[in-house]
Amino acid sequence: MRPKKKLISLAVKEAQKSTFYFKLGAIGLYKGQVVSKAYNVSSSNPELKYFPSRFSFHAEARACIRAKKVDTIIVVRVNPTGLACSFPCSSCQKIMKKYGVKTVFYIDWLGNIQRLVL
Ligand SMILES: [Zn+2]
Repeated sequence: MRPKKKLISLAVKEAQKSTFYFKLGAIGLYKGQVVSKAYNVSSSNPELKYFPSRFSFHAEARACIRAKKVDTIIVVRVNPTGLACSFPCSSCQKIMKKYGVKTVFYIDWLGNIQRLVL
C-alpha cells in the first residue's frame, strides 16, 4: 500500500511552512485518517521537551506528540528542486515506535516513496 498523492501533497504543504533550510513535513494517520500535521521547528519551541535534539524538533516526532493515536507517519523533505530524502533519524524512529507507529512512509535518495516498518 502506498499513501495517496493527496496525503503526500498535504505533507509537502506542511514542510513548506518550515523556516529551516531543510524543510520537513509530516502527516500522522490513524486507521487511514489524518490525525496530525507537523513541520520541523526550532529548538525554542515549547514542545521540544519531548525531543532530545537541542537544534531542531523533527516533523515526524512532532506529528506523533500532536496525535492522540497514530499508527502511520508520512514524512517528506522538500528542497527548491523537489522532494528530497526524508529517512527518519534514530531519535524519531524511537519516538514514533513509542507512540505506536507501525509504518513510516518516507522519500529515498532517488525521490521515491519507501516504506519503513518499525
Ligand atoms: Zn528525526
